[in-house]
Amino acid sequence: MAQALQIGNVTVQPGEVKRGGIPLGTDMYGIERAMPIIVYRGVEDGPRLWINGATHGDEPEGPYSIHLLLKQIDVTKLKGMIVAVPAMNVEAFTGGDRGDPRDTFSYDMNRIYPGKADGYSTERVAWAHWAVMKEHCDLQIAIHSGGDHSFLDTAIFASDVPASLELAAAMGPDWNLINASSAGRGSPSSMMAELGRGGITVELGGWCSMFKTDFHEVGRRLSDAYLNVLRHYGMIEGQPQYADKWLRGHQVALLANSTGLFIGEDVQLRTAMKGGTVLGHIYNLYGDEIETLYAPADGQIFGLRFRVMTQTGDWCCFYAVIDAVRDDFLTRK
Ligand SMILES: [Zn+2]
Repeated sequence: MAQALQIGNVTVQPGEVKRGGIPLGTDMYGIERAMPIIVYRGVEDGPRLWINGATHGDEPEGPYSIHLLLKQIDVTKLKGMIVAVPAMNVEAFTGGDRGDPRDTFSYDMNRIYPGKADGYSTERVAWAHWAVMKEHCDLQIAIHSGGDHSFLDTAIFASDVPASLELAAAMGPDWNLINASSAGRGSPSSMMAELGRGGITVELGGWCSMFKTDFHEVGRRLSDAYLNVLRHYGMIEGQPQYADKWLRGHQVALLANSTGLFIGEDVQLRTAMKGGTVLGHIYNLYGDEIETLYAPADGQIFGLRFRVMTQTGDWCCFYAVIDAVRDDFLTRK
């Protein structure tokens, strides 16, 4: 008989679905806090996939798409294991903020991995998560979006590690833009890449796409992509779909150089664009245009700010310069 696995405070046998958490110490009431996890352990061994949501607390696409996915998983037919973490940063998620508002020293959880056992509060949360994940994880998807300021459209960040590029390609035909990312320290995906394992950060959605059925569509597109990943690795039945080729790019952040009202142009996201294309304008309160933002080079815009109030240094446009067109990311296509 296979051994029980201990993941955080969850003990799980083959063929079981268990809920629990990664312990984070007690709160002011003396009650044990935990980062919620849901474990689907298949009857047969196979890849161990972690799906991590809401590293940033203003990005609920993670928890929603995870719920949509898990409703479609029959654990008795699963090969391998899914560990779902709907919200990694519960303190941030509760307030709908990017980071834990009470942590002013390690606020952005996606910049501090692997965290620190004796560090600032979010560093400790990251450390607890990483310590458990690294023991039980072959593949990791971290789900992000434009949060409360921007909309981002089907972009992946992945390091130049074969396992990570294969995982990126397994997301399916819509996800053919794969931007470069560093390996080692910073994000959970970069830590996975440092170990030579598959780790990707995926971007889709933002608060402008949460009204009524818009949010269903974002959740469905994400959960469909996870199903494609599960098919690619043989974890569930079915034929995976792939892009014909992948755009290997790097992100250029276009930040505001003025404070005022940012109004985006009606540009096509995720479509080839010429350098110099106008992407948006910033106006002052007298209605004068004080800045115009342009595409910095030939490439694609994959995200645009929708929050009008803008300060110097705020994100306005997420642009990808394409460095190579690749067709060699899949070793088992
Ligand atoms: Zn994010």
